[in-house]
Amino acid sequence: SPGQGRPVEICVIPGDGVGVEVIAAACRVLDAVTRAGGPRWVRTEHAAGYAAYRETGEPLPRATVEAAQQADGVLVGAMDAARIPGGLPQPIRALRRELETVASLRRCRTLPGVPAPSGPLDVMVVRELTEGFYAGVEYPVGNDGACAVRVVTREASARAARIALQCARERSCKVTAVHKRGAMPLTDSLFLTAVSEQASSFPDVEYETKNVDACAMEMVRAPQAFDTILCTNAFGDILSDLAAGLAGGLGLAASGCVGDRWAYFEPLHGTAPDIAGQGVANPLAAILSAALMLAHLGHHSWSTVVEESVADVLGAGGPLTADLGGDATTSDVAGAVCRRVVARA
Ligand code: ATP
Ligand code: MG
Repeated sequence: SPGQGRPVEICVIPGDGVGVEVIAAACRVLDAVTRAGGPRWVRTEHAAGYAAYRETGEPLPRATVEAAQQADGVLVGAMDAARIPGGLPQPIRALRRELETVASLRRCRTLPGVPAPSGPLDVMVVRELTEGFYAGVEYPVGNDGACAVRVVTREASARAARIALQCARERSCKVTAVHKRGAMPLTDSLFLTAVSEQASSFPDVEYETKNVDACAMEMVRAPQAFDTILCTNAFGDILSDLAAGLAGGLGLAASGCVGDRWAYFEPLHGTAPDIAGQGVANPLAAILSAALMLAHLGHHSWSTVVEESVADVLGAGGPLTADLGGDATTSDVAGAVCRRVVARA
């Protein structure tokens, strides 16, 4: 209840474009959680992205990194990397490195009133973030060839596996590890060995493995069979977009990047320059990302209250922003979610 314990410190990094608008909406919902009897927050705003670069010359100022490292929770909008001159660090990559995040969690869940091509689903894609095909090891071979190295280590695989297995425990207790061992026997055998070693310490979690191609097809045909999907970096990138599409698209896709010490939460969408500044961006992905943050902070019941409040608004037919077929503003939608949070508590 309010007044109990110290307030939770949230580092807010609104970023650029619609990031600023949707994060403001998510913060209103966090305040509604407090009004409804949930935790109290101390929020501080910090700059990162193009606006930060323009003001300070740095895309990710040191003060922002330090604030993120000492806060309990970190909420991020989106950053415009395209307008930051080459040679400077990409702010979101730099933030991931500074916060030592090792896996990205993408919750994809169908919600009432939102068309979903494959029917209802609720999956969590856990994507290893530090290696795989995106380890950044590429080199030319002669004049007409090039190589990309797929890096897999036991340590990073086991780390991502533990995150997935823990995640599954809070869901339906099933993990599907995705691989292509037939084509990449060395790397994916190592991955699967490391993962199954971890899975044996979670006897309550059902564990299975699937080839990535079969997994993609089965996700489209019967996504209800999946709970938590553990992937190496590139497979996770692709399958999580697939899951987001099956769940109704970008306006609803929430994510978090987690590591042993730190984590941050952000909507999957970018800065949406085409609609920025108009107050019409859909805030639900940011609000659902804040709900993931609440769960990560241990406030599971408040996380559920926020998610169910979003479902209530969608189920009632709105208010909805233009991307979902309505004509409401960001603020209208945030206000409706806030009222449901207070009504549900
Ligand atoms: P960035 O380079 O920052 O990723 P982008 O041009 O790729 O920017 P996205 O943010 O990825 O733009 O968005 C892709 C499309 O989806 C755009 O047409 C955008 O308007 C739309 N879109 C993205 N986020 C939202 C949102 N929250 N509400 C409504 N529409 C959105
Ligand atoms: Mg984009």
